[in-house]
Amino acid sequence: MSDNNSLLANKVAIITGASRGIGRAIALELGRMGAYVIANYNSSYEAAQEVLEELKTTNAAGAEIIKADVGKSDEAQNLVNEVLNKHQRVDILINNAGIQKAVLVHKMTDADWHDVINTNLSSVFYMCRAVLPSMIAAKKGHIVNIGSASGFMGHKGAASYVSSKHALTGLTRVLAMETGDKGIQVNTVAPGVTETDMIASLTDVARERLLAGIAMKRVASPQEVADMVIFVLTKATYSTGNTFHISGGLIMQ
Ligand code: NAP
Repeated sequence: MSDNNSLLANKVAIITGASRGIGRAIALELGRMGAYVIANYNSSYEAAQEVLEELKTTNAAGAEIIKADVGKSDEAQNLVNEVLNKHQRVDILINNAGIQKAVLVHKMTDADWHDVINTNLSSVFYMCRAVLPSMIAAKKGHIVNIGSASGFMGHKGAASYVSSKHALTGLTRVLAMETGDKGIQVNTVAPGVTETDMIASLTDVARERLLAGIAMKRVASPQEVADMVIFVLTKATYSTGNTFHISGGLIMQ
């Protein structure tokens, strides 16, 4: 058992949006590290079942999948209540669930705007509000919000997404200010372009254009992002309110 492994063994960890992509990779890595993994999903039941089966082959102290649309206040609260009723604590919360809708502002509907803001931003507020009383009582806890390079730049056709990720940086900082003296750390991991379903519809031309801005001239794998999350959870013991970039040089700060 590695040092990292013992640090995360038996920790109760909720990962939102863990059925696919980056959330799935984080859930599996936490499982390999010995955590008790609660993998949230919304619409992809079969994919979530596959994650559960794979988790059972890891060192996970245990694993469950729980359906909830975390962009809805009551569903996020019910998800946390279910975990607290069963485990009496949440040690780690990874706010990962996210969607993107590519629409120019002058063509964007209210739904295009609100769906993205609710899923990417309001969900983080709902989930943090739900877990914080128990973390404060326990005087410990670790929250990692999955931001984006889009929280540090603008790009066409992504008003709701870019706005949600910029706001997430601010929310992380406020959460850190409110909980830093209570044994709780709140940080953002901000991936650049990562090989998941979210970028699957990019044309070759759009992909080339994206790569042009990336110093390392390649996209990230979900595993690389998961590894950064594990780093933050296990090694970044004196960091809160910070952003950990993992963008191959797309964002340099
Ligand atoms: P993805 O492959 O499309 O997966 C999205 C995940 O979010 C799925 O598991 C999905 O679950 C879940 N989800 C969506 N809406 C949800 C809701 N309302 N409630 C609960 N879960 C919900 O996307 P990804 O690329 O892994 O993105 C994960 C995070 O990384 C997002 O926050 C995204 O903004 C961020 N990110 C991604 C990239 C990239 O290039 N891929 C870059 C920077 C940041 P269901 O299918 O079960 O609904």
